[in-house]
Amino acid sequence: MNNIIDGIKISTEIRKDIKQIINETKITPALAVIQVGDNKASSIYIKNKKKACEEVGIRFEHIKFNDTISEELVINEIKRLNNDISINGILVQLPLPLGFDEGKIINTISPVKDVDGLTYQNVGNLVLENDCLVPCTPLGVMELLKAYNVRLSGKNVCLVGRSNLVGKPLIQLLLRNDATLSICHSKSLDIKNHTKQADVLIVAAGHPNLITKDMVKDGVVIIDVGINKEGNLLRGDVDFDGVSKKASLITPVPGGVGPMTVACLLKNVVKAYQIQN
Ligand code: NAP
Repeated sequence: MNNIIDGIKISTEIRKDIKQIINETKITPALAVIQVGDNKASSIYIKNKKKACEEVGIRFEHIKFNDTISEELVINEIKRLNNDISINGILVQLPLPLGFDEGKIINTISPVKDVDGLTYQNVGNLVLENDCLVPCTPLGVMELLKAYNVRLSGKNVCLVGRSNLVGKPLIQLLLRNDATLSICHSKSLDIKNHTKQADVLIVAAGHPNLITKDMVKDGVVIIDVGINKEGNLLRGDVDFDGVSKKASLITPVPGGVGPMTVACLLKNVVKAYQIQN
């Protein structure tokens, strides 16, 4: 089908560009990832990030703590990394084990090293349209739309999901591009009423088959951020088989937004290096 948005292709191009920048400018950016506990999914994500970093020439430091470590020691480690000029990006792998104050820990990260774009300063700058480090998945969504020349100005864009990590940063990025937004969430009474009007529909809810073909109009552009595990398979939030028959463009899961998230992390590490130098 030629209406598939190829996240693997676009992310590969981004990774190639980053590798070229690093080679040509002879820099060695470095990313430190802090993991607390042994969450299996987190370990896989970190492994993927390490591989991606090393492929483009970003030095990767994995700092792993047992979940019995105190919050204070995690905070001290972040402060040490903030002061270490050989480290350009700091990322705390989420979720943290129960009992850790996520907000306090994230906001210890120096905003210029906050490659996940989650500190108060970066969130505020995003709202105020100042240049800042932007969360990787929303950045990846915007890169995909740009790569496929999807114009947003004046268009009806419906966003399903309003999390701090995905939905809320996307609201700001879409507004910056002059989209007209409707935002749905778990308390929305009639999602279909909104999704049906959408020229572009972005879904980040974490519910397989939430969006079915009767909920979209012909020619819609669909970005499916959802990742849901079903046995050994990964599925998005959109019923791909049904909806892809009506969509002018649609992301698959896997192979859509997922690879863009990692590519945008690499972009953010290089950007953090440039901010600091
Ligand atoms: P989250 O923090 O759980 O937020 C989910 C959002 O969806 C919330 O705003 C929630 O509404 C809304 N929602 C839940 N059920 C809904 C329903 N039935 N109808 C309408 N809205 C509903 O999740 P997240 O971190 O944003 O992630 C969302 C999905 O994207 C997950 O599947 C996650 O695995 C995936 N993800 C993918 C990537 C990637 O790289 N591709 C990166 C991050 C996340 P309330 O606010 O009312 O609770």
